[in-house]
Amino acid sequence: MVAKLLDGKELSKEIRNKLEQRVKILKEKGIIPKLVVILVGEDEASKVYVRNKHRAAEKVGIKTIDIKFPKNITEKELLLHIKKYNEDNSVHGILVQLPLPKQISEEKITCAIEPEKDVDGFHPVNIGHLFMNNPHSLPCTPHGIMQFFEKYKLPIAGKNVVIVGRSNIVGRPMAAMMLNNDATVTVTHSKTKNLSEFTRQADILIAAVGRASFIKKEDVKPGAVVIDVGMNRNGEGKLVGDVEQKGVAEVASYLTPVPGGVGPMTIAMLMEQTVKFAERSVQIVNRK
Ligand code: NDP
Repeated sequence: MVAKLLDGKELSKEIRNKLEQRVKILKEKGIIPKLVVILVGEDEASKVYVRNKHRAAEKVGIKTIDIKFPKNITEKELLLHIKKYNEDNSVHGILVQLPLPKQISEEKITCAIEPEKDVDGFHPVNIGHLFMNNPHSLPCTPHGIMQFFEKYKLPIAGKNVVIVGRSNIVGRPMAAMMLNNDATVTVTHSKTKNLSEFTRQADILIAAVGRASFIKKEDVKPGAVVIDVGMNRNGEGKLVGDVEQKGVAEVASYLTPVPGGVGPMTIAMLMEQTVKFAERSVQIVNRK
């Protein structure tokens, strides 16, 4: 079997084209979707992510305001800035790029963003809604992964889903989304014993580990759908996933490539969520 590649570049383009239309309609109503992206410090990877988000937003007509703070900003100061954007009705989404410097609690900052403007979907209120199967704002990476299943009509209900990794931004919300779609879900992590015994049971295997080429051909059930979330640099500085792509492509039925798989979908979902929040703001105004 040679796996069919799930093309995130193509799918994200399709989604962005649809978003452009929605932004046009909003603009006719006098609303410009606005996203505030806050970057603290000089983390090189974070700078690249922020730049990519800015470019993607501009393309669909979302206005992004990039705010940069020095790495020695205090938690109190940062909280005050967030409060200001929470209260600004022209702002529809607020995102604070993680990781933050040590003196700032990521949890406090995440909780300070109004859940209605939490485009990343990391606020505990939004995570709670997701786990209760009544989502308001969804974490972008797992939300992006769900789009592949919809687009390619890959069934989820009743399937064995195994997720490797339990981070708050990928593994845990991914588990909730799969459960909400009637899958039987297993979440594995660094303390899991005999990991391969679990992964080999997976009809759908999702790798969010952060280790280059960690999942090998022999860890995968023939015919499985394999989603590779990893973004790791190998010895030569090349971007590689958590899945050993060449070998796994020989047994999987579908596979997301790296690059060009999950990555572009994450950004597309951030844009989608910002537009959705702007649309909601129109509905709220109309209701008043
Ligand atoms: P984290 O480091 O927060 O989490 C990694 C998870 O993998 C942890 O739950 C950890 O277990 C688990 N893990 C580590 N080693 C093993 C092991 N040997 N066996 C089983 N489980 C293990 O990473 P993230 O979730 O933030 O990211 C995962 C990967 O996805 C990274 O490569 C990251 O760059 C990428 N990523 C890609 C995105 C995209 O848009 N494409 C977006 C976000 C992330 P434990 O909890 O026990 O420590």
